[in-house]
Amino acid sequence: MNTDKHNLIKRLFPTTLLTPDELEQKYPERTLPLNAMVTRVAPSPTGFVHFGSIYASLISERLAHQSDGLFILRIEDTDKKREVAGTADLFAETLKRYGIIADEGLIEPGKEVGNYGPYKQSERASIYHSYIKHLLEKGDAYPCFATPEDLEALRARQEAMGERSGYYGHFALWREKSIEEAMAALDAGLQPVIRLKSPGNFQTKIMVDDILIGKREMPENDQDIVIMKTDGLPTYHFAHAVDDHLMRTTHVIRGNEWFPSLPLHLQLFAVLGWTAPAYAHLAPIQKMEDGKKRKLSKRKDPEANIEYYRQAGYLEEAIIEYLLNLANSNFEDWRRANPAADYRDFPLSLKKLANSNGPLFDLAKLNDISKDIISRLDAKTVTERALAWAKEHDVKLFELMNKDRAYTEAIFNIERSGVPKPRKDIGRFEEVRNEISYFFEETFVLSDEDLKTAIADLNGAEPKALVSDFMAVYDEKDSPEVWFEKFKEVAARHGFAKSPSDYKTNPDKFRGQAGTAAKFLRVLLTGRTQTPNLCYVMQVMGKERVMKRIERI
Ligand code: GLU
Repeated sequence: MNTDKHNLIKRLFPTTLLTPDELEQKYPERTLPLNAMVTRVAPSPTGFVHFGSIYASLISERLAHQSDGLFILRIEDTDKKREVAGTADLFAETLKRYGIIADEGLIEPGKEVGNYGPYKQSERASIYHSYIKHLLEKGDAYPCFATPEDLEALRARQEAMGERSGYYGHFALWREKSIEEAMAALDAGLQPVIRLKSPGNFQTKIMVDDILIGKREMPENDQDIVIMKTDGLPTYHFAHAVDDHLMRTTHVIRGNEWFPSLPLHLQLFAVLGWTAPAYAHLAPIQKMEDGKKRKLSKRKDPEANIEYYRQAGYLEEAIIEYLLNLANSNFEDWRRANPAADYRDFPLSLKKLANSNGPLFDLAKLNDISKDIISRLDAKTVTERALAWAKEHDVKLFELMNKDRAYTEAIFNIERSGVPKPRKDIGRFEEVRNEISYFFEETFVLSDEDLKTAIADLNGAEPKALVSDFMAVYDEKDSPEVWFEKFKEVAARHGFAKSPSDYKTNPDKFRGQAGTAAKFLRVLLTGRTQTPNLCYVMQVMGKERVMKRIERI
């Protein structure tokens, strides 16, 4: 290397940096079992956590761990203008909450572990500089002092000439500039970017291979892309190549919006003298709108934001189950065959991922899965989790439930433990308020109008007498069957048919069916026409509450 070039590089990178060889030693090949996958998720902390990011993270984590490999959470924060404070930690916290456990990187808010770090790109500047310096020395990169105006003029010129736009070949303004010109620009106080001197030819087709998309012919990259910005930080393209090499990533699993950049990325690996990892580009999660599929959108769909599910009180395990459903369609059969198994026992397959179209998001399906899971939890667990949710999201409900936890637990226990078909009434904790509010005096409502309607349905029977006759024989210990037998007896005395068939044969003889009379009692006690079995509801409420409500008539 001549002295002028040496001086130029020295001016660009005045401090001592590790050499590429030293970096290889510092971050050696990992010793892992054969075929172990090292995967990573590499979010840019630019705002909320997208549902699709958790999907990609789960897939990456599962594939790593089921192959006895490693899963890394790396933060790609080189775009300081787009960064939103706190969102790197939010991502870490979210993964942790979902049990998607990273082995290295930002494993929880503010806590980084692993020997291949730092795991925040903004803290890795000196590592990138080592390689940029190395590329400058080899003549595979050069400083570029083009101003935004220069680039705009270039674009206009290319358009006028009918040429492909971009910074390439003879259009690359600083590619062939001399060392003297670069020095002069530095002397003038200008700050350069560093560009890759692309060895590619756009006319040449290369075959790229993606695990999901398959083999595709694509033009070689010939763009002299920016690898280091004026702020000294690299661009995503360059940083990911360096990081995935040094972190010894074996599989890059990422959104397919990056697929068009694959020729560039493969070129970067080649120029740096490295073997590229395997790539799998995921099709985005789709949503049906007006009979058409479209990408689940950050701007349009509140459910694209993972916080939506926390707010609504979905169980994290329901989301995980649902994501596995989206990832591999055979998960559902596996789950049916293994109802109690840990989802981690499911062999997730990269090959079976829905590819070209992307999986279809369906909130109703998620609700069903969630209801199913909640229905299988015991009352104590439901109470604890509902309380934890309410504490954050519905303080009034929290206070209500917390006042008498045993009572709350008894409510959740209705038609739950030990019954063959537990109730599936709660899909997310935001539904709890509506499901249980009538059990508490503070939130019980029975409008005069509803009461009047219920009385009218009695068809002239005396409401007070009906109820007090029933309460005279009512025993809290009765089973629902005995309860109903007793109720029918009393209803019959007040002119109701004991059975629907009796009523059908002789409708004129009765005021209605016993069931209609029971409906009146239900409305009186709960303010609702639909509740779990009234016998259980009364048991849980206890005689005192029941009597108090009866006083209303
Ligand atoms: N930071 C990139 C993004 O958020 C990550 C892409 C990748 O996984 O390599 O889209």
